[in-house]
Amino acid sequence: MTDPRAHVVIVGAGITGLTAAHRLLNPLDGSSPSVRVTVIESTSRVGGKIRTSPFAGIDGVDEGPDSYLARVPAAGRLSREVGLTDALTNPTDAHASIVHGGLHRIPDGLMMGVPTGALSLARSGLLSWRGKARAALEPILPSSGDHRDSVGNFIRQRFGREVHELLVDPLVGGIYAADTADFSLATVPQLADLAHGRSVLLTARRRRAAAGAAGPVFETPRAGLGALTAALSGSIERRGGTILTDVMVTGIRRAGRSYAIETTSTNLDADSVIVASPAAASASFLRPLSTELSDLLAPTEHASVVMVTLRATGRALARFEGMSGYLVPKPDQKRVTAASFGSNKWSHWKPADDSMIMRVSLGRDGAPTHDLVHEWDDERLVRQVVDEMREHTGVDVTPTEHRVTRWEHSFPQYRPGHLGRVDTMEAILNAEAPGVLLSGASMRGIGIASCITQAESAAASVLATLEASGHLRD
Ligand SMILES: Cc1cc2nc3c(=O)[nH]c(=O)nc-3n(C[C@H](O)[C@H](O)[C@H](O)COP(=O)(O)OP(=O)(O)OC[C@H]3O[C@@H](n4cnc5c(N)ncnc54)[C@H](O)[C@@H]3O)c2cc1C
Repeated sequence: MTDPRAHVVIVGAGITGLTAAHRLLNPLDGSSPSVRVTVIESTSRVGGKIRTSPFAGIDGVDEGPDSYLARVPAAGRLSREVGLTDALTNPTDAHASIVHGGLHRIPDGLMMGVPTGALSLARSGLLSWRGKARAALEPILPSSGDHRDSVGNFIRQRFGREVHELLVDPLVGGIYAADTADFSLATVPQLADLAHGRSVLLTARRRRAAAGAAGPVFETPRAGLGALTAALSGSIERRGGTILTDVMVTGIRRAGRSYAIETTSTNLDADSVIVASPAAASASFLRPLSTELSDLLAPTEHASVVMVTLRATGRALARFEGMSGYLVPKPDQKRVTAASFGSNKWSHWKPADDSMIMRVSLGRDGAPTHDLVHEWDDERLVRQVVDEMREHTGVDVTPTEHRVTRWEHSFPQYRPGHLGRVDTMEAILNAEAPGVLLSGASMRGIGIASCITQAESAAASVLATLEASGHLRD
């Protein structure tokens, strides 16, 4: 007998796909929709960019993201809902630095690298006097000129080259593995919001004051973010959802009022589809549905990064006490873009001996050789990290254990005009394939909290459409 319930297929079991599945089976309004949910994942594991594994005697050390933005309510709410309330933790108050002719503590009072006052910048040795003087002019400049939706243009127009190159680009570019000169301002909501007032510095100061002491910025399960995706998978399966791994979606076509999902295994029918896979993959299997949509998705560029995790020992590491890590601005960059002193940032990442866990990132968008580091062998990568860290900090880091994770084509790059293109894609789907939705890192936000928010909204929208069309009634 065929199952009379509406069937929703989700492509991709990253945080977006898993959250969407969980929300379809467990909506925020407390209802119990009569819906069948299948998540299809091409690899052998769930989690996508979230991957946690043992390292240095600690059960869970993240290989990709290590935390989510706690100030976006959806992420913390989801973690608590799937049973992680007592398992969550926040970073220590260790401070981050920027390398530029030595290590400089990141000045206080910045918002995504944007100064909210002239004093803390003036005290920092990071900017030259000329750079500080240029930044201090910002409040008396006329309103922003045409920044063409580029983070870099916007910040340079307002604060000059040094604030862009030494503060905003490392901080914002570090989050997106981006070259912020070619990155859409509108997709970084905290910065885009500052473009509305006349003075960016004064608007940033007001926003900071209004936010007050809003609690910790980041949060994560002590066992690593893999605990969140594992808890979500458990919740989906307990509620009757199905997760298929090692099955790749190869095509989606219209089949009357529903959709035929072609895969490397059995083909399926769906009343609705949430596409939560990276743009390049989605472009390929959505082509039978709409060539116009596929042509918009296909050119999305992705940056590749490598995460080298080290366990290091030695008395010289005392030099890093109180430091959560540092960022390397582009003028000072070779391959390393950031070093995170994991054992200082997370109190639960302290190995039993006096060694220290560090996570070092290499590669980004726009670097002359950005697509090559992931082709290097492990030994070469570790050597590069050790050499560059010596140059940056004067400390000879001696790794006693290492782990290399290659994240090839992992960070979608939101070029200027990105959100307009997403609007167009959504309009195409609305007209040509109602009930098929795009969600996740390639669309309206890369961070985990944003992916969760997008997934919840996609699930709510699917349920509303199914309800309106009578599909939710048995
Ligand atoms: C190294 C690194 C560090 C990061 N650090 C942070 C951080 O600290 N905090 C933060 O908030 N964010 C961070 N991010 C970003 C964040 O982790 C990702 O943007 C987010 O996890 C993406 O989730 P997603 O579900 O949208 O996509 P993905 O995780 O990419 O999941 C998509 C899934 O779709 C599957 N798939 C692809 N094609 C098909 C197909 N044809 N059929 C079936 N399945 C398919 C893939 O195998 C994958 O599992 C980091 C990212 C990386 C790479």
